[in-house]
Amino acid sequence: MTLTPVGLTRPASVTGAFLEQLVARVPGSAGATWKLTEVYTGDVLVELPQSTPEDIERAFAVAREAQRKWAATPVKQRLAVFKRAHTLFVDHARAVADLIQVESGKNRRMAIEETCDPPMVMSHYLKRAAKLLAPVKRGGPVPLVTSSTEVRRPKGVVGIIAPWNFPFATGISDAVPALMAGNAVVLKPDNKTALSPLYGVRLLEEAGLPKGLFQVVCGEGPDVGPTLIDQADYVMFTGSTATGKVIGERAGRNLIGCCLELGGKNPMIVLEDANISEAVQGAVFGAFGNTGQICMHVERIYLPESRYNEFKTAFVAAASALDVRAAYDFGPEMGSLVSVDHMRRVKSHVDDAVAKGATVLCGGKPRPDLGPAFFEPTILEGVTKDMLCGVTETFGPVVALHSYRTVDEAVALANDTDYGLNASVWSTDVPAARALAARIESGNVNVNDILATAYAAKGTPSGGVKNSGVGARHGDQGLLKYTDGQNLAVLKKQVMGPRPGQHYEKYVESMLSGLKTLRKLRLR
Ligand code: NAD
Repeated sequence: MTLTPVGLTRPASVTGAFLEQLVARVPGSAGATWKLTEVYTGDVLVELPQSTPEDIERAFAVAREAQRKWAATPVKQRLAVFKRAHTLFVDHARAVADLIQVESGKNRRMAIEETCDPPMVMSHYLKRAAKLLAPVKRGGPVPLVTSSTEVRRPKGVVGIIAPWNFPFATGISDAVPALMAGNAVVLKPDNKTALSPLYGVRLLEEAGLPKGLFQVVCGEGPDVGPTLIDQADYVMFTGSTATGKVIGERAGRNLIGCCLELGGKNPMIVLEDANISEAVQGAVFGAFGNTGQICMHVERIYLPESRYNEFKTAFVAAASALDVRAAYDFGPEMGSLVSVDHMRRVKSHVDDAVAKGATVLCGGKPRPDLGPAFFEPTILEGVTKDMLCGVTETFGPVVALHSYRTVDEAVALANDTDYGLNASVWSTDVPAARALAARIESGNVNVNDILATAYAAKGTPSGGVKNSGVGARHGDQGLLKYTDGQNLAVLKKQVMGPRPGQHYEKYVESMLSGLKTLRKLRLR
């Protein structure tokens, strides 16, 4: 591991004046602020206003007013905003990456990849939204004289609560289909990472999104959450399973829908015939990409006994050679954890595992010499289910190796978890890997990749099962969830019910034979 001391120059685009401008749109009438810091140094970057319940109610009122006009704007005109936004987002990717890096501490390679997510989502729905939102004639119960049309109506104002690990992607990408569908959005980013989503909103407005339609409120989750959920017509939440349950309960009490994208304890299964060097390369990204703070990342690796040592040797060598440090260029292969608090949490999982008998194959320690929240890429062996990291999500650069004897045992071990977000199967026999994938209880399963193939396939819904969530983003569902279906039924002539003077028995006879005729007609 490189022990280069921190010698940092903050990106030139991140000036105090620029950050003041960005946070100026966040309401904070009580004057309370939160010190948003640069992760690599701990220096305060800007005082982020904290929104009161009254501020949040006002934000919803403004959004609701703007939403009425937006919903009445033809879909084509709404989509034109996102065509322009796509160009702006790509052109400003480097400036966005600067903000993502200062506020999250991730390395530049991951920051720039994160900037690509909203344009990819825009591209997908620019092709698909008009079709999904168009009314669909379904036909009525009686041919010719009745019709029924499925009409898609926006929910109204969508509340989005986003986490810190992909603040730009979760804050903006989830808003795109909601806005295209005619909704307004009130976003609550994490306090630590509010800058990049605020910049995303500014770019959307530069592209022509009406002012007021996209509001941002800030504060600690438990302070802001209740008012936000009570005001919203739908809630899109990404975060931990524990918080997801709180959000889901409140949305349920309010009888509004919600989509909950939660944590994972994702397995990687390497089959006997796998290409080990590709699997190791995948595992390095899966375990240490984004400093292990990707919901779909790998925390458990299952290896056949026959190839365990080969994989272990190569994986430990690769992890130990990673270039880990703070820099705003593309050099480092791994950056910092998001905060000192989170680093302590990750450390507590490793300490607990070691105290209960696990072996550290590499890493295992904080690295204050690199920055306040750095932690080494860590590979463990001998992790069991009585250890914290054996059952709950660690969400850091920590991964455990396990061996298995039979494929059935590997499947059982992979499924032996409360989570079900992502998994991967590695084999040179793709049909066999696909067959095995079908046995994994997980919302996403990748063959010979960790997560990017699944996550970047924006046409397919992506979500979690079991404790990993409810609902999905991406795919048709990722836009339709922000709408209500209205059944618009028309009767051109009254034919249902007995004619004047007709005996009810006669009417029933004709109705029953009509049912048979209709079935035959529809079967043809
Ligand atoms: P978290 O649940 O602590 O916080 C997420 C967001 O919820 C933050 O904005 C936070 O301020 C807010 N929040 C916290 N308590 C709240 C409350 N009572 N009411 C309303 N809002 C509240 O999660 P985190 O630690 O910030 O993020 C990491 C977690 O997110 C990990 O578990 C990770 O797996 C998960 N995640 C899941 C996905 C996915 O798509 N499934 C994507 C990214 C992250």
